[in-house]
Amino acid sequence: MTDRRFEGIGATPTVGIGTARWFTPTDVTELDEPPAPETVDPSAERERFETSQNEAAAELEAERERTRQRVGDKEAAVFEAHLQFLRDPQIESGVDDAIEAGLPAPHAVMAAFKAPIEQFEAMDGMMAERADDLRDIRDRLLRLLTGTERTDLGSLSKGAVVFAELLTPSDTAQLDPEAITGIATIKGGRTAHAAIIARSLGIPAVVGIGETLTGVAEDEQVVVDGEAGVVIADPSEATQRRAAESTQTPVIDDAVTTADGTNIEVAANLGTPAEAQPAVDRGADGVGLFRTEFLFQDRSSAPDEDEQREAYRSVCETFVEGVDGEEPPRTVIRTLDIGGDKPIDYLGLDPEENGFLGARGIRLSLDEHADLFETQLRALLRTAATEAGSGLAVMFPLVSTVEELGAALDRVDAVADDLDSEGVDYAIPELGVMVETPASTYLADAFATRVDFLSIGTNDLTQYVQSAQRDLDRMSEYQDPLAPAVLRAIDRTVTAGHAGGAWVGMCGEMAGDPDLTELLVGLGLDELSMSAVTIPDVKTAIREVDTEAAEELAASVLAAETLAEVRDQL
Ligand code: PEP
Ligand code: MG
Repeated sequence: MTDRRFEGIGATPTVGIGTARWFTPTDVTELDEPPAPETVDPSAERERFETSQNEAAAELEAERERTRQRVGDKEAAVFEAHLQFLRDPQIESGVDDAIEAGLPAPHAVMAAFKAPIEQFEAMDGMMAERADDLRDIRDRLLRLLTGTERTDLGSLSKGAVVFAELLTPSDTAQLDPEAITGIATIKGGRTAHAAIIARSLGIPAVVGIGETLTGVAEDEQVVVDGEAGVVIADPSEATQRRAAESTQTPVIDDAVTTADGTNIEVAANLGTPAEAQPAVDRGADGVGLFRTEFLFQDRSSAPDEDEQREAYRSVCETFVEGVDGEEPPRTVIRTLDIGGDKPIDYLGLDPEENGFLGARGIRLSLDEHADLFETQLRALLRTAATEAGSGLAVMFPLVSTVEELGAALDRVDAVADDLDSEGVDYAIPELGVMVETPASTYLADAFATRVDFLSIGTNDLTQYVQSAQRDLDRMSEYQDPLAPAVLRAIDRTVTAGHAGGAWVGMCGEMAGDPDLTELLVGLGLDELSMSAVTIPDVKTAIREVDTEAAEELAASVLAAETLAEVRDQL
């Protein structure tokens, strides 16, 4: 037992043990030489292509439905996007031109996808991962055109760990989370659609490991540690024992306190209403961040007031019914946070003007998209007046000035006045601000006197404090929330927030790391909100914390001047 380690990127922060099963899809892109153009009948080839398009659409619709039921609407939206790409006019006319020039349908498909795939590959970050989506659609068409058998990933035996060069969203959605104990891939990133689906299915996953992964043989025993971002082949007994322990963190349904009795709320981050029940099942006390932009993405127009009310009601109701307690569980719903890395096609946002340093988050809600903001606030205030909505809270994203916060609060009052004069029931919920820009950390005291709570978004806060774009792999050494500057920004926010009378939570990815729980308690956070998978680990960690020792740890970490010193202290 040799403990051979293969480092990669953790995509689902859980641990699994199983047997390596290499998945090598048949390479459908290896086509024979095309026949002479004059022997090709363009109209027959065009018909062949259309048939493959219709068959691909039928497959995608079935996969969308299955994913919607098993995982959720947000993840199913990947297939919606594939359906759109499938009928993309640019690709369709590329196929048409190539057929006209004398190529048979499969060769025409290869030719028409080439340029768009290369365009996405040349981009950075999340856009580069869209090239994988395009390859997935191309290969689906080629498989259907060449009559190639599909590899069935759904029937892998219990305890299999899927090893692959890359998994497509369609491959990943086929996996049975009851049977598959892990995923390890040579390529791929954390924000790729396949990784998002793996995370939602709760399958431990490490991606982007590189060619060294081919050193793992079929049927070898492996541990996939998605927390540490490492695959360990031929694990020693100690490694197996540790892995077995961390796969079995029991769910804690009750609210937890530290060993000396400090209450810390542990909440879930959600992207769709379908994620609410799994979060309750993992022991979430409430919701610390519902990212409403997913309601607006991958469709052709914005959801109206009624559709939004239904989504907000459904999340609140799932928590009211699933969580016991004297108070209704708190459900923090964030108003639309678009721009930056979250585009919405039908709004036609200019990527430069609406980039990370442009009009995004609350800036769009107060200006160009005041109409969307008003509809959303109406839906939220009306939901807050219902029985299910009594724990609802509303939070504004990317606020950086007191003027912006003042304007957002004025809009809330104006919407309340409108509803009042219409005779429609409403309630003003708890209101809060995300602290995710350097400016907001300096103004936290002023914000805290105006709202009920602050919630620190460490994903954006790290990017802005460290001046390193969050989706650029090349900047990864700056993107660590443990950087001393980021920790000091968090500290000043908590202190100023409390001085101003607000409670202070954290909903960035950092909050879900159980190794940092003691530090975060020591920094004084009242609430931690995270992906549902890590809730049992964080609740377990909170119960072991002694607040005084945690405060001492925080003080020594805050004194550190380099990342290495911070890590030493921890
Ligand atoms: C954050 O920035 O930390 C955050 C929680 O918001 P998002 O990741 O949605 O930008
Ligand atoms: Mg953010």
